[in-house]
Parts: sequence; C-alpha cells; structure tokens
Amino acid sequence: MTTESTGAGVLLIGAGGLGCGTALALAAAGISPLTVVDDDHVEESNLHRQVLLSAKDAGRPKVLALAETLGERFPSVKVRPIAQRFDAANAVRLLEDCDVVVDGSDNLATKFLANDACVLAGKPLVHAAAVGTGGQLLTVPRGGRPCYRCLFEELPAPEADAPSCSEVGVLGPVPGVLGALQACEAARILRGESPAFAGRLIRYDSPLMTMGAIRFRANPSCRVCGTHPSITAASLEECVS
Ligand SMILES: [Zn+2]
Repeated sequence: MTTESTGAGVLLIGAGGLGCGTALALAAAGISPLTVVDDDHVEESNLHRQVLLSAKDAGRPKVLALAETLGERFPSVKVRPIAQRFDAANAVRLLEDCDVVVDGSDNLATKFLANDACVLAGKPLVHAAAVGTGGQLLTVPRGGRPCYRCLFEELPAPEADAPSCSEVGVLGPVPGVLGALQACEAARILRGESPAFAGRLIRYDSPLMTMGAIRFRANPSCRVCGTHPSITAASLEECVS
C-alpha cells in the first residue's frame, strides 16, 4: 500500500537524525515527490541516528547523500534535494511547491519559522522534535488553527537553557519512531483525511515506553493565528531572528 501524491508532494525540513527517519518512512509510504531542505554537512559523530547517511559521505551536503540513498532504495520516489537552510528568505517559495510540510529540523528557531510560515500560507504542518530519549509531535492543520505557537508561544531566549539534540544527544531509535509517525500523518493528510494530531500534543517517552496525548485549543491571543496577529508575511523575518 502506498500513498502517492498527485500534486506537489511533501516538503521535509531537515536531513539530520529526525529528517532521515522521516524521509525513510515517507519514501516507504510511496510519497512522491519529496523535497528535502537542509544546509548541513555529514559528520561522522552523528551517524548513529542518521540512518540514510554513512561515513563515506562525511563532509558532503546531507541532502545530496540522503537523496542518493533514497534513490537507490526507492527508485520510484522523486527526491529533490535543496542544500539551503530553511529560512525566512526562502520559506514562502518552498511552501508554494508542496501539499504538506513535515518538520524534521533539530532547532527551535526553525520550528517556530516553519509554524509561522505554514500558518500564513495555509499549509498543513506535521511537527516533531526528538531530544534525549523521547520526543513530541503535533499537526498544524490546513488553515492554521490551532498552531505550534498557540501552545509554545515564543522562541525561548538563547540563555533560557532549552535543551537541544546537539547538546543532550538523541537515542538512535527515537527519531525513527517519530519519523514513522510523521510519515503516517503526512500520508493521512495527502489522502484527504483529517490529521490525527491536530490540537493534540503527542509525547513519546522511550524509557517508560509511553505515548500520551495532551489536547489543546487555538489561543485567541496567538501572535500568528489569533484574532489580532502581530506576525505577518512582512514581519516574518524580523520575528524569527
Ligand atoms: Zn496559533
């Protein structure tokens, strides 16, 4: 059973641990075309969780190595690698060319930007984050409410000590679990079904082997999807910097 997109397909942000797990699952679901955007290069120290990259690729752009590996394993899946950072300058253009956005990035600034850009463009966003031995998922539905910012509101200040995967590491299998769930959710949306994670924050804890859901509603004061938004297309770059 496959889920072949008849349109512009999926934009996957990130080709690291989570991005690799998600890309593998998206390709296994037959989702095509698959556009992957990331400006990072392959480092041997991260390969334990980057299942589509290998030591022979060290120093190469991750998206190129990822596209080659997927192309060999899934020749019917069209992969478009874009060796750029997903940023405010290219977000609008990249979102124009996709049906669904899947966030496989590894930093909060990109996650807030992905949310804001998708809300403003009216594109569905399947969010996930993997840190340490667990992670989380939620979906911003087409139309943008409720969104990631309804729940998390503001990008923490750099000194706020928010843990990142580069600082605390990620248990190798965790991005695979989250990536598989992201791909299932993207496939639902492409089939025209309601997203399973809209208005629900899914939390996965691998040591406890638990997965729980917290329901949340749209925040009328949300800065991007609320009744008086202060984040607009024109202010996007300033808001995420
Ligand atoms: Zn919101």
